[in-house]
Amino acid sequence: MARRRPANGVVCPLKCSGGRADRQSYLSDGQLERLPADVRERIDGSGGAQRCTYCGAVYLPGGPVLGSLDNGVLGEGWHPFKR
Ligand SMILES: [Zn+2]
Repeated sequence: MARRRPANGVVCPLKCSGGRADRQSYLSDGQLERLPADVRERIDGSGGAQRCTYCGAVYLPGGPVLGSLDNGVLGEGWHPFKR
């Protein structure tokens, strides 16, 4: 069965209210430099990470969320995702 897409078009793994496809982009080199080394290594090993420009979520292809960068609620900088 095909995976159901949310009716509102949100693709952000955190399902933020504005996380549609046009708000997702690959991290820039400058953004990658601001991440801890262990996170960068994980991203390198996964072929890149995307960031939701609406909520700041940084995630690997397929969805696992590593944390958020410049989150409107948590503030500037890197905030590791806690399960
Ligand atoms: Zn989002």
